Amino acid sequence: MKHVDTICVQGGYTPGNGEPRQIPIVQSTTFKYNTSEDMGKLFDLEANGYFYTRLQNPTNDTVAAKIAQLEGGTAAMLTSSGQAANFMALFNICSCGDHIVSSASIYGGTFNLIDVTMRKMGIDVTFVAPDCTEEELNAAFQKNTKAVFGETIANPALTVLDIERFAAAAHAHGVPLIVDNTFATPVNCRPIEWGADIVTHSTTKYMDGHGAAVGGCIVDSGKFDWMAHAEKFPGLCTPDESYHGIVYAEKFGQAGAFITKATAQLMRDLGCIQAPQHAFLLNLGLESLHVRMKRHCENGQAVAEFLKAHPKIAWVTYCGLPGDRYHALAQKYLPNGSCGVVSFGVKGGRTAAETFMKHLKLAAIETHVADARTCCLHPASSTHRQMTDEQLIAAGVGPDLVRMSCGLENAADLIADIAQALEQV
Ligand SMILES: *Cc1c(COP(=O)(O)O)cnc(C)c1O
Repeated sequence: MKHVDTICVQGGYTPGNGEPRQIPIVQSTTFKYNTSEDMGKLFDLEANGYFYTRLQNPTNDTVAAKIAQLEGGTAAMLTSSGQAANFMALFNICSCGDHIVSSASIYGGTFNLIDVTMRKMGIDVTFVAPDCTEEELNAAFQKNTKAVFGETIANPALTVLDIERFAAAAHAHGVPLIVDNTFATPVNCRPIEWGADIVTHSTTKYMDGHGAAVGGCIVDSGKFDWMAHAEKFPGLCTPDESYHGIVYAEKFGQAGAFITKATAQLMRDLGCIQAPQHAFLLNLGLESLHVRMKRHCENGQAVAEFLKAHPKIAWVTYCGLPGDRYHALAQKYLPNGSCGVVSFGVKGGRTAAETFMKHLKLAAIETHVADARTCCLHPASSTHRQMTDEQLIAAGVGPDLVRMSCGLENAADLIADIAQALEQV
């Protein structure tokens, strides 16, 4: 199975003779053993197996294995949400007194997580612009820096991360690069091939793709040499007393240490696992991800081109447009397309944007993206409504900004809907 398309359909699960063709949903909280000794081996991490679905479940592991193959990683785990995935990916290697370097152009939920909640836990952060200079990037690192974070295509700013550059800076400082690949998906970009060490997803978005199940995923590339930087990563490189003193990086090696620790410690203690039913729904989405992404991108491109040429539109951000600020980076990292999300400004500012959206018939107003059905959002009157126009502009989300997530409908119908709504402005 070499191609992403085939992995989407068949990765992670190969049934034996007479076994179910579709992945079984193991709807069980617990698992039965014949002897306490058998179970003891699981608790010592001496044997592989399941004992309680708060930590691991076979359905989840089947789907996680597919996503690991899609991203070209060595191990993966599903989480209850994308928020949980990013938190656990960071918290697995950062604790009180540590520091993170993060791109400033990231999802608002992740920004809050890092800037507010993780600071309360004593984990500091320095945000850098995705297009900062080499000097600014290097100056952001401190002695206690433990990770670099960014998004392949940022939600909602649609900036494209120069993954190779951020990976080189992270590695020069002896720390891993964590990339949230939600918007691109492994169909359009595989960050590990460009140097990322850990990849995260909100599987709620394109991977599910049908607005059915909230979920997340963490994939380890298996490429980061924790032991070479043992002093920075005591959690992976010194004995875990809660598991009889095992050293994750020694016992599970580069390929398995990160995900084993995240499962054994963080899932055990925080319990934010994805429900097996959700994992099943996620897998249904993954089976068509490669087919859907192509259409999302075609529709995104068609809508972006239409808007760009429309006299009532002030500006359009879509990296597939020649002349877009991120077009060159997109050609390097996203040669087959980026995603279906387009952001643009309606001339006339806040009121014009609101009038336009009110008249859309196919595109529904939602705080969601990456759904089969086209949806749109006016951040200034919803997610960011507490901000003044000045604050909105400073945050890169001007009062005129509309974010439209192009679904899987016919592009001509979407464009006709946009055109009639713009006539009302
Ligand atoms: C939505 C989103 C998240 C958060 O995921 P949830 O599944 O909603 O918790 C994280 N990162 C990106 C890029 C997102 O778009």
